[in-house]
Amino acid sequence: MSSKLAVVTGANKGIGFAIVRGLCKRFDGVVYLTSRDEKRGAEAVAALQKEGLNPKYHQLDITDPKSLTVFHDYVKTKYGNIDILVNNAAIAFKSNAPDPVAVQAEETLRVNYFSVVSACEILFPLLRNGARVVNISSSCGHLSCIPSEKLRQRFQDPNLTIPELSDLMRQYVEAAKQGTHAAEWGNSSYVVSKVGLTALTKIQQRLLNDKDIKVNAVHPGYVDTDMSSHKGPLSIDEGAQAPLFLALDAADSVRGEYVWCDKRIVSWSGSKPSENY
Ligand code: NDP
Repeated sequence: MSSKLAVVTGANKGIGFAIVRGLCKRFDGVVYLTSRDEKRGAEAVAALQKEGLNPKYHQLDITDPKSLTVFHDYVKTKYGNIDILVNNAAIAFKSNAPDPVAVQAEETLRVNYFSVVSACEILFPLLRNGARVVNISSSCGHLSCIPSEKLRQRFQDPNLTIPELSDLMRQYVEAAKQGTHAAEWGNSSYVVSKVGLTALTKIQQRLLNDKDIKVNAVHPGYVDTDMSSHKGPLSIDEGAQAPLFLALDAADSVRGEYVWCDKRIVSWSGSKPSENY
């Protein structure tokens, strides 16, 4: 029960896979590669084993409360606590996807926001004092991506609660279903989901301050993965750098921040940094 433990969601490929690789090299403890699909997870573990690394594996679908509970119970019994949790799993519809906006809004928010809320509700009780949580946001999670000043004010409200934030996310899904979302929310469900995740990060930090738990959001950079249709110029290992910095190296004073791929803390509500890669 004394081993330190790191867990990465959605780690069978892409940036999550590279975060596991980096943790296996640098973290003094057990590293769990988790994936929703066991076969894809096993292949990813085998690929890292070929490199001489030794991640452990457990199935974890963040949209499935049963899967989350089974994983919680497994970790609680076998290890007791989690020291590093990287909420990496997410989806993004392609820009030419035929699915109606309403469907894209519901599904994107379900996976990228509501399932992260559920995963955290279930797994946060296992966080050890001093633990670190890294929420993988995006440059799309910058507040300036939301057109409405009134909405931006709501997201920034220092007293905003998780139920209130979830209500805002539901309002977006409703607006998308009515076709009235564009003026206030913009045209991207992915943006709304990642702004929601960044806002969630700040609330989670407020709630966990007394336990010395650090929760930060990060833009990993524009990375060559399936999600970016391999258009991103950064390798997955480059994309893993800022998440690994927050998981392992950042000063304890870095809390509730929005961190750019070059490891700079950036103002969430100020102007968005440029993306020079
Ligand atoms: P990929 O599409 O390459 O990988 C996403 C991973 O998430 C896959 O392992 C996928 O599993 C998993 N996943 C999806 N849904 C679930 C679920 N319900 N439960 C568990 N796992 C799930 O994406 P990236 O590596 O590019 O993205 C990783 C993170 O980085 C995401 O949060 C993304 O939003 C963010 N990001 C990426 C950028 C980029 O340029 N690539 C830029 C900014 C942010 P499966 O293989 O089964 O589908």
